Amino acid sequence: MGTAKATSKLGKNKYTLLSAAIVGALTLVGCNKTDDTKAADADAQATPTTEASTDVVTIYSSRNEQLIQPLLDKFTEETGTPVELVTDKAPPLMARIEAEGENTPADMLLTVDAGNLWQAGEMGLLQPLGSDVVNTNVPEKYRSSKDLWTGLSLRARTIFYDPAKVDASELSNYADLADPKWKGRLCLRTSQKVYNQSLVASMIEHFGAERTEEIVKGWVENLAAPVFSNDTKLLEAIASGQCEVGIANSYYYGRILEENPDFPVKIFWAGQGSGAEDTGTHVNVSGAGITKNASNPEGARQLIEWLSSDTAQAKYASADKEFPVKEGVDESDLLRSWGSFNQDDINVTIFGQRQAEAVQLMDRAGYQ
Ligand code: FE
Repeated sequence: MGTAKATSKLGKNKYTLLSAAIVGALTLVGCNKTDDTKAADADAQATPTTEASTDVVTIYSSRNEQLIQPLLDKFTEETGTPVELVTDKAPPLMARIEAEGENTPADMLLTVDAGNLWQAGEMGLLQPLGSDVVNTNVPEKYRSSKDLWTGLSLRARTIFYDPAKVDASELSNYADLADPKWKGRLCLRTSQKVYNQSLVASMIEHFGAERTEEIVKGWVENLAAPVFSNDTKLLEAIASGQCEVGIANSYYYGRILEENPDFPVKIFWAGQGSGAEDTGTHVNVSGAGITKNASNPEGARQLIEWLSSDTAQAKYASADKEFPVKEGVDESDLLRSWGSFNQDDINVTIFGQRQAEAVQLMDRAGYQ
């Protein structure tokens, strides 16, 4: 733990990149698996059959439907297991699984950020994965320390800058953005977003609460504009000259570059130096877990294992400009063009464990 780093071997793949269309308007699509059909499933299970199970796997997902549906179709094609997708944001999906209790149609929760996955685990919504396949495919640092969920793709939360005003040699790590030299030049997304809570949680783990609070206060003092509601607006603010430097997730940058290869903002891998605060670039996961009351836990496990396999990994990651969690799986040409980097190597479970502390700290520091 601490400051250990591992070199990412982030390669390439040649899969078509799906348009990572606007996430905003995710609609709640109805789930057809009623209690009646659940009973019917149970009857079907009781009848001996020579075919593999074709029980439906119902996923509650906060991921863009257009992004994952093609992959789920491929899973169904290969295994014969149908998948139903219920799409909404993570907090309402978790509240729904909790409210539905034993009657939940959800077999699996698919969402982003270890902070969210950890919350789902703490709420008692998930059961152990118990999968040797997942344990083999996914490095331990990207999995729940209680085996309640696993990462399936990686995103880096790093520094972006305006190359017309900032030289890369001026940049180093997250802590440095608190230096007065960045006064009136820094832009940040709201602290309400779990991505920033996870980043600050990782800093508390590395530097302790006192030093982290000092850093976060420094960020707030350096702000060039009020905090942004999302990473895309922040990157556009750098492009338009409103700020010179900011922190965002790598795939938002990838989405913009796909539309506009000349987008005038550059990516900088944070924390690559040899100083005490160079703890590598903060990396988070998207991931999944099997619900505690799943009626088809075997199907959910099969799907999660499939998503962690070589074939699915390349596609799942490249669908939204993310990095695979499985080592040795190539990444897209676009991601490879950003160069390799040392990641912060701490277990992502810590982002959840220190989430409440991070939220309180950001509040004390005046980070809105
Ligand atoms: Fe996001």
